[in-house]
Amino acid sequence: FKPGRYRGRFAPSPTGPLHFGSLVAALGSFLRARAQGGQWLLRVEDIDTPRVVPGATDLQLDALRRFGLDWDEEPMWQSRRLEAYRAALDRLRADERVFACRCSRSALAGAPHRGCLSTRRDGPVAWRLRVPDRVITFVDAIRGPRRQNLAQDVGDVVLWRGDGLVAYQLAVVVDDAAQGISEVVRGADLIDSTARQIFLQESLGLPTPAYAHLPLALDADGHKLGKSQQALALDAARPIPALRAAWAFLGQRSEALDDALDLPRLLDAAIAAFDLTRVPRSDRRIATTLA
Ligand code: GLU
Repeated sequence: FKPGRYRGRFAPSPTGPLHFGSLVAALGSFLRARAQGGQWLLRVEDIDTPRVVPGATDLQLDALRRFGLDWDEEPMWQSRRLEAYRAALDRLRADERVFACRCSRSALAGAPHRGCLSTRRDGPVAWRLRVPDRVITFVDAIRGPRRQNLAQDVGDVVLWRGDGLVAYQLAVVVDDAAQGISEVVRGADLIDSTARQIFLQESLGLPTPAYAHLPLALDADGHKLGKSQQALALDAARPIPALRAAWAFLGQRSEALDDALDLPRLLDAAIAAFDLTRVPRSDRRIATTLA
C-alpha cells in the first residue's frame, strides 16, 4: 500500500450473525475510511476456535454485501496466519520481553497480575508480555486523550494462551501492521485494550495507528448487545432501515439521507455527510425493537 494513505478495517469475530452493534462498528469504520477516500479492509477474527460458530463468517460477509459495505482486497483470515503470530512471539522471546507462565486462567483473573506465581512444573504454558510501570497515552479521535498504566491497571498480558491459542492482543497488533491500517475504528468495548496494543506495537517495532472508538449499543439493562439478543439480528433483506438506524445511532443528521431512495445513493450520501465530530462519546441504550 502507499504510505500516507488512509486504510481502515472491520474485524468481526465469527461468533454469530451480524447484529445491530456490529453494524454500527462496520458502518462507522466504513464511512470514516470512504469519507477520506481511503480503503476499507476486512479481517476475520477466527482464532478463538472454541467460540467460532461454523458458517458465521459466510453469513457476516453476505450481510455486509447486502448492506452495500464493500471491502477492498481479500479478507484476512486469522486462522491462516499462525506463522506470523508465532514469528512475532519468537521475536519477543528473543528480546526477553515475554515469559512462560503456568498460572491458571482463574489465578490470572481479577487484580492486575505481574510475573508467574505458579509453582507448577508441568501443565500448560502461556506466554505473557512484561508490561512497564509507566503511563501510556493516546488521543482517541472520538473520546479524546486517554491514559493507562499497564502495570497498575492490567498486569502482564497473555499473548499466547495455555490452551495453545494465540491471544487476540497479539494477533490484532500483528495484523493491523500487516494490513497497513492507518486508523483503527471499532467499538468502545476495546478502548481499554488500546494501551496494551500500543505497548505491544512498540515492543515489536511496529507503527501505531490512530484510534477512534465508536459508542456501543447497549440493551435496556445497559449490557452490550451480543449474540444472545437474537431479536436484534439484522434483516439483511431490508438493509435501508437498519442503515438509517445505525446512522442515527452514530449521531449523524438523518436529513442527510432523506432523499436517498436506494442503497447505493444512501451510502454515497452517508459518505459525503459523515461527520466524526458528531459521533457520541458515550455508549447508548437502544430500544430492543429497533432492528
Ligand atoms: N473481533 C473484535 C470484535 O468482533 C474486534 C477487534 C478489533 O476491532 O480490534 O469485537
